[in-house]
Amino acid sequence: MRVLVTGGAGYIGSVVTAELLEAGHQVTVLDDLSTGHADAVPAGADFVQASITEADPVLAAGRFDAVVHFAAKSLVPESMTAPQLYWQNNTVGSLALLESMRRHDVRRIVFSSTAATYGEPDTVPILESSPTRPTNPYGASKLAVDHLLTSYARAHRFSAVSLRYFNVAGARITPQGSLGERHATETHLIPIALQVAAGQREQLLVNGVHYPTADGSCVRDYIHVLDLADAHLRALELASREPAGDGGGGGSHLICNLGSGSGSSVREVIESVRRITGRPTPAVDAPNRPGDPAVLIASNDKAAAVLGWRPTRDLDQMVSDAWDFFQQLRPELTDPRGDGDV
Ligand code: UDP
Repeated sequence: MRVLVTGGAGYIGSVVTAELLEAGHQVTVLDDLSTGHADAVPAGADFVQASITEADPVLAAGRFDAVVHFAAKSLVPESMTAPQLYWQNNTVGSLALLESMRRHDVRRIVFSSTAATYGEPDTVPILESSPTRPTNPYGASKLAVDHLLTSYARAHRFSAVSLRYFNVAGARITPQGSLGERHATETHLIPIALQVAAGQREQLLVNGVHYPTADGSCVRDYIHVLDLADAHLRALELASREPAGDGGGGGSHLICNLGSGSGSSVREVIESVRRITGRPTPAVDAPNRPGDPAVLIASNDKAAAVLGWRPTRDLDQMVSDAWDFFQQLRPELTDPRGDGDV
């Protein structure tokens, strides 16, 4: 298949691009490099530096079979203070992309949605039919795109899949080059814990220790980025089975959670980091992060039934791969023979 990957210079987009190439697809990456890295675009993919609002000439020239759409702003705290960036980039930008796709008759799309569309759940595990009540503009801006896709599927015969990610972690480690998480502003638990393990930060704050969970810390559903990538390839295959377009076919919008179906607490993640890195990784009790639900766990039954997808990599594997990636990026911090002085 010829596939356009938006946001293919980012963490998840670059890993999915690499997996698409390995599976024999032709890939063009569209990324404005606002947060991505040009050197993360896997060799073998064409690269166009442009935003999703500028996709028209690329789609006009490319004869693409499908789009896999990752490009987005994704920092929850930033979305609270600058919501306009989220509505503009994520929602208005996606609408422009869909209109370009419609103009050039590319009507298959796999979209990176998020568990943040659900907000605080009444019950776990979270089903795709659970209420969607996002508690921040990031989740709301992504939920709006899910609604856009439903209406484009119905009215314009798009064949669409929204994949709602839970907590993505890990890296793609290969001798030819590795891909992983390297954000300018790091807010996620596992990369922060690895920075602490490496001595780059003094200590980890355990945000909330009196939640109604077994050890008092928050429970999240962590999923390996390679398992996530596998689901994208399956979703693409599913969308391509339908002859989407005005000639008939299409018209379906599938929404699927991508999670492991089980949870790990913040303290369990820290234990895993200590085990894998062999470093002390100091952690101190700290206040709750505002708006953090106690437990978020996905039901992945639908992904299993419809995509035939099951995650295969556990938390230790995620931490271990993320640590390998971290060591490749910052060998001076993690080499046991080094003095760690940078
Ligand atoms: N967390 C923490 N300390 C940190 C970063 C995160 O205790 O320095 C907690 C956070 O409160 C949440 C969990 O780790 O319960 C996962 O947070 P993350 O930001 O990785 O993902 P989120 O679930 O917010 O999307």
